[in-house]
Formats: sequence, C-alpha cells, structure tokens
Amino acid sequence: MNNNWFDEEHKYYMPTFKRLPVMLVRGKGNLVWDENGKEYLDFVAGWAVNALGHCHPVVVEATIQQASQLIHTSNSYYTIPQLKLARLLVENSCMDKVFCCNSGTEATEGAVKLARRYGHLHLNGAYEVITALGSFHGRTLAMVSASGQTRHQAPYTPLPSGFVNVEFNNIEALKAATTEKTCAVMLEPVQGEGGVNIVDKDYIHAVRKWCDEKGILLILDEIQTGIGRTGKLFAYKHFEIEPDIMTLAKGLGGGLPVGAIASKDRASVFAAGEHGSTFGGNPVTCAVAFSTLEYIIQNDIPEHAAKMGALFAEGLEKLVKRYEIASSHRGIGLLRALQFEKDVAEQIVLKCLENGLLINRLKPNAIRFMPSLIITPEEIEKGLGILEKSIKGL
Ligand SMILES: *Cc1c(COP(=O)(O)O)cnc(C)c1O
Repeated sequence: MNNNWFDEEHKYYMPTFKRLPVMLVRGKGNLVWDENGKEYLDFVAGWAVNALGHCHPVVVEATIQQASQLIHTSNSYYTIPQLKLARLLVENSCMDKVFCCNSGTEATEGAVKLARRYGHLHLNGAYEVITALGSFHGRTLAMVSASGQTRHQAPYTPLPSGFVNVEFNNIEALKAATTEKTCAVMLEPVQGEGGVNIVDKDYIHAVRKWCDEKGILLILDEIQTGIGRTGKLFAYKHFEIEPDIMTLAKGLGGGLPVGAIASKDRASVFAAGEHGSTFGGNPVTCAVAFSTLEYIIQNDIPEHAAKMGALFAEGLEKLVKRYEIASSHRGIGLLRALQFEKDVAEQIVLKCLENGLLINRLKPNAIRFMPSLIITPEEIEKGLGILEKSIKGL
C-alpha cells in the first residue's frame, strides 16, 4: 500500500478539495478499484461526467483512434471531429450553432459573453444577466458572481458586476429584477450542485414568456442535466420550452474535458475574433464526444436513464419509509438526492465508502446520486443495499 501519496498531496497540491481517503487507480463499467484492489460501485460517475461508465469501449476506441491520427491543430484550421460533433448536437436539439470549449465554466462564461454581445447589438447595450439563488454556473470570477451562493462568492469579493441573483422558481422576483440593462436570464433546469432542485414547469414557461415579451435571451445551463442525465437527451425537453442558448459539458465528453455553447441562429452573434479557445474543439475531445453522443442517441440511453431513475426513486422511497433519519428524496432521471433529518451526510458517505459504494455529499444533511447512464437494475439494487446497510450502521 502506497499511502505516501496522501502525504505527497499535502506537500505538492493546493488543498482545494476535501478528498475522501481513497486512491482510485482503475475503472470498468460502473466499478472502480483502489490501489489495494478494493472494489467500489460508482454512483458519482466523476460528478455526472462518465455517462457511459468507466473506460467504455466506445470512449476508449475513439480516444485511441483519434489520438493516433491527429491530436491538435489550433482553430486556424478545419478539423472533422469538431464539425461532426457540432452537426450531431444541432441535429438532435433545438439549436442551430455550436462552439466547443473545455469545461462547463467556460461554456457558461462564453454563453454570458454571447448574451452581452447580443445586448450590445440588439438591446441598447444591455449586459446584465439574471440568475437564481442556489445556482451553480462555474468557478471563474464571473461565474462565481453568476452562481447565487455566498459560499462561492464571499472569498473572492469584489465580484465582477453584471449579475443579479434572484429566488429560484419565483417569477415575480425575476420580473422585478428585470430592467433595461437585462440582456438574459440564465437557469439550470435542475439545480445540481445547489441541491437537486427541479425547476417548476409553470415557472420555466413563465420565464420563457417573460423573456420573449422583453426581447431578452433565455440561457439554460444544461451542463449537469444534458446528454441524457434526466431521462431525456436535454432537460428542456421535459418542459416543452426551448432556450435561446444552452450550455453543455460534464457527460458530453464521456470522461474527456469538453464543453459547448449551443445557440439559436438569432442569438448566435459572435463575429470572427470575438471569442475563441486554444484547446476548445480539439480533435481528440471532440471525436470522443461525438462517439459518446452518437452511442447515447443510437441506443436510446436517455430512455434507459429514465427507467433506471424510476427504479432508483422506488428504492429511495422505501428507505424514506423505513428509516426515520431519511426524511425525503427528490430528483429526475439519474440525478437524485436523499435528504436526512440530521447532518449525517459526511458519515454516510464514509460508511458507504467503507462498504464499497461511492456517493456524493450534497449538503451536510443530503447526499446525491448521479451514476453512469448505463447503470443496471442489479447495480441499483446492490447500491441501495449498501446504502441501507450504511444508514443502519450509523
Ligand atoms: C459542473 C457544472 C458547472 C461547471 O462545470 P466545470 O466543468 O466544473 O467548469 C457549471 N454549471 C453546472 C450546472 C454544473 O453542474
């Protein structure tokens, strides 16, 4: 056992992550193994990233194939994987244009730049973006300012201006915050990091209507909800509304770092030189994203995610009925949370780890589940069994 790595981290790595005491070295499907060969069932999936689980043949083969052919060229030149990915995204969404970047934060930051550009061109220079309290849009200074959570904002004041955080699912608050300076509203269909809070259908319809009335843009941050996670390819499809701009990342790359801004033609107002990226749209990440997305679409993985999500919810419902400490559960598709009466999330996460299950601490009193989209009924049952045993062992 090479526990020295834990000390090395202390010595060499900035301590921004409160890590669990485990060194993962290998993964296959929905299982991962630590350096001692201990096996874990993975209900975290790299924070909703590994849509097809670990080292899926489609992901591995696309990586090897493209990495053997052409790894990087810069965006001065055309490359095929980038364009194939853009076409596939457009053909399977309500969007018309795509820009590829490297992470979720870059996608939302880019979407805000796009909305500001739109404001300059069409809304008398309007630049303000309204976002929700409890939201999470990323970690750059601007996206920290966009994310309506003081714990992310307070350490970094003064924050860039141009964002107004209003109560989630409250249309009056949003209307009251709208001024002639507003160029867009940016929302997550389900607040993921902020607590697995699902947007109300009435609210999102009212927001869409309000944006149309005011001529401002609606940006949906689908970084966590997109690519099948909620049981549809994109979460906006549940609500029968269409955003003007949508951001993607996490599940898009099948594990590789790739994000995207997608936009309707009318909102696609970047001119040459106005936005860019050195790595964004890189042949390898795009080839893998293309193959991942193609597999997800061809095999109707979102439908599978919906079914597995329903099964998961049934299991959580049983736990809530059986254990007083588990007070409620919520979620959609394979993005779910279990709420506790007390601040036991940390303990449960550690107990589950001990018992061979990876789950995510969402809040001091809540845990989150976001397994791969190819999780099986047997694996869900097994995971819930480990969870139950860990709750009992408290
Ligand atoms: C994870 C996430 C982000 C940030 O993505 P990174 O890839 O970590 O930069 C932004 N918005 C939402 C909704 C997310 O879940």
